[in-house]
Amino acid sequence: MKSKLTICLLSLTMLMGQGKKIFISADLEGVVGAVTGEQLGPSGFEYQRFREFMTGEVNAAINAARSAGATEILVADSHGNGQNLLIEKLPKDVQVIRSWPRPLGMMEGINASFDGVIFTGYHASTDNTEGVRAHTFSSARLTSVKVNGQPMSEGSWNAAIAGQFGVPILVVAGDDAAVKEVKSLIGNAEGAIVKESISFHSAKTLHPEAAYDLIAEKTAYAVKNIKKYKPYKIRGPVTVSVSFKHYQPSQVLAYLDMFKRTNSHTIEFKAKNMIEASHIMRVVTGYNGGNAKP
Ligand SMILES: [Zn+2]
Repeated sequence: MKSKLTICLLSLTMLMGQGKKIFISADLEGVVGAVTGEQLGPSGFEYQRFREFMTGEVNAAINAARSAGATEILVADSHGNGQNLLIEKLPKDVQVIRSWPRPLGMMEGINASFDGVIFTGYHASTDNTEGVRAHTFSSARLTSVKVNGQPMSEGSWNAAIAGQFGVPILVVAGDDAAVKEVKSLIGNAEGAIVKESISFHSAKTLHPEAAYDLIAEKTAYAVKNIKKYKPYKIRGPVTVSVSFKHYQPSQVLAYLDMFKRTNSHTIEFKAKNMIEASHIMRVVTGYNGGNAKP
């Protein structure tokens, strides 16, 4: 039997997470077991199964956040076509942001009313020599993204967007390289390492159920102890540097005064804060011009 004191302490910790609003940004490269393109897009033979695992990781975070007292949860489906999560398998009062374009990218829907953010399925940056499918925003088009000279991963970039709204990152789930890279910049988020990267296309992975348990454990702890996490803030104005694989985007963007071409493949721009930086980045990486689909 539990003592009165234990019960009291338990209800106190539950209360600390009570009524919290949680934002989940879900990617797929860092999901348990994912190692190649076969798991990452509609043409891959394992994609349909990995939509289940991606949804399973998000559900593990949702259920644990709720058990720790969170009452409102918004999920941003933030990989590939933005239509990966099996929405009917999420709890019916959870809402989902789907598809593109969206001004805040993987963080669309975040605002100052949220109390904490969870990243699932995250991967390392294009500047990192380690990590499964390590890239930043586009593996096909970008080779480096920096803010004020600091190489950024999607995790640290998105943490800085949340930080602009005063919202801290609670949990980062992904491979070991992704977790290490994000934590080294933003500080004390909980890491849920669901696989250890061996190379760009290889990893030693947990079983899906073990990954769900790990994410649930880290999430429950973080939501209960939410006060200890601080927002990752980058004070504006910020200088953003973007390197492309191809010379052409940097050449054309430099027609506009707001972009400075710093070398054949790189442009630099200034933004008043990370929100504006995100909006400009969406144009720099997402504008299709005459090739846009209807
Ligand atoms: Zn992705």
